[in-house]
Amino acid sequence: MEADFGLNQPLDTLVVGAGLTGLTLGWHLVNAGRTVLLCEATNRVGGAISTSEADGFILEGGPNALQETPELSQLVQKIGMAERLLYADSRLPRYVWWDSQLRAVPRNVPQFLRSDLLSWFGKARLLFEPFVPRLEEEREETVTEFVRRRLGDEALTRLIDPFVSGIYAGDPGQLGAAAAFPELTACERETGSLLRAKLQAGRTGTRAVRRVCSFRSGLRELPEVLAVRLGECLRREHQVVGLERAGDYWRVIITHRDHSLSILARSVVLTVPAYVSAQLLQPLDNSLGRSLESIYYPPVAVLNLGYPVANLPRALDGFGHLIPRGQGMRTLGGIWSSSLFAQRAPEGWCQITCFIGGTTDPSSQDLSERELVRLAHRDLQQVLGLRGAPKVLAITRWPRAIPQYALGHLHKQMRVEARLTGLQGIFLAGNYFGGVSLGDCVVRAQVQAGQVQTYLGSVSSQASLRSA
Ligand SMILES: Cc1cc2nc3c(=O)[nH]c(=O)nc-3n(C[C@H](O)[C@H](O)[C@H](O)COP(=O)(O)OP(=O)(O)OC[C@H]3O[C@@H](n4cnc5c(N)ncnc54)[C@H](O)[C@@H]3O)c2cc1C
Repeated sequence: MEADFGLNQPLDTLVVGAGLTGLTLGWHLVNAGRTVLLCEATNRVGGAISTSEADGFILEGGPNALQETPELSQLVQKIGMAERLLYADSRLPRYVWWDSQLRAVPRNVPQFLRSDLLSWFGKARLLFEPFVPRLEEEREETVTEFVRRRLGDEALTRLIDPFVSGIYAGDPGQLGAAAAFPELTACERETGSLLRAKLQAGRTGTRAVRRVCSFRSGLRELPEVLAVRLGECLRREHQVVGLERAGDYWRVIITHRDHSLSILARSVVLTVPAYVSAQLLQPLDNSLGRSLESIYYPPVAVLNLGYPVANLPRALDGFGHLIPRGQGMRTLGGIWSSSLFAQRAPEGWCQITCFIGGTTDPSSQDLSERELVRLAHRDLQQVLGLRGAPKVLAITRWPRAIPQYALGHLHKQMRVEARLTGLQGIFLAGNYFGGVSLGDCVVRAQVQAGQVQTYLGSVSSQASLRSA
């Protein structure tokens, strides 16, 4: 069927996927005066961002919060959303469940010295870090190897392991240190020590304090406002199913309900997960497709649970809790959503968002909803001493949640980038390279929009809309 997008010229860029990356990238290109079409397979925007409401609660079924980077602040300012931002109290502690107790993660030296999360031996080992020599060999280390070598075993199991679960739902024994935590390995490379680098940054004021934030009605406000700004350039329920070379252009095959359409574009940006990019690119370059397909995404279930405040034996005065593996708990941790941001629960209620699954627990995907709730509630009873049954507000299952930056990931990225040079005009901007956080997505979208601009400037501007 003939494509009917009200266009009589081929596009400058077709963006695939309306998660935060695709929307931000599309917005940058439209602002730069480019003709853009953004195709989203589903009928909603935001991708992993999935805010909903139930019984007076605001629920996050995917990401819960973002860190305010300079690029995010600029974006929010430019689209007129600064007033909608909601900040978490930066003094809120994070807790780790260790040896049957919740223990606050220290945030400064006096707290570190008083902390009961690490033993005196563990603290001394951590403070010895500046004297640990740099790694001599050119060898890629896992997060486990890197942290154990530099900071010691206690810091690994009680501090880093739970944070790896919190960010990647990952296994530190499988993640590559340089790919998953590039700023840490850069500290070692540049100053020889993580602690010295932190102290230096504190002294020179270069350490960026990034505030944790969301929006008054939840994270979905950001993609929804971007979607409004994109207007007719955004098409929901338009699934991209194929890409073909057509002279100087790319012919993009799209299905919309029961129709099939095609459209010509000078450039195409894939902001979809690696396994979707793999399907689209495999027919063009089998090796490229296989590299992308091999990036693992573990399953994660997110449970939003409500409890009457009266059932809490203690105030939820924190960001949430993380649970290292080996502590006899199934949940990876919980975000104390109603303490983190205002208006996440009605009067007299609190909301806790629990996570089950990840690389270390792939069989969690076989658990029934009833079993997920039982496990989350059982762990909360033990960690927080909660009484009574929870109000189950939502359960969101992500069969393939967060890409794992496993050992060898940076080499894979280089291989993929090298193969892409054979597909001029195709760009990748997924969260499987360059960071998984929402802040990273905004930065990547801006950088890739710049690269697309450079590319478009270098090729002919001839284009024409064709039928399938
Ligand atoms: C459970 C969970 C918790 C998280 N927590 C946090 C957090 O607290 N803070 C944080 O910063 N980050 C968090 N993240 C990570 C962050 O949410 C993601 O990295 C980010 O949202 C990815 O955005 P994206 O636009 O790159 O991709 P996605 O959000 O995956 O968007 C891709 C879009 O492409 C669409 N699509 C797929 N196939 C096609 C096709 N063939 N044609 C057209 N469209 C297609 C999809 O429907 C989707 O809308 C979390 C992620 C998950 C899953």
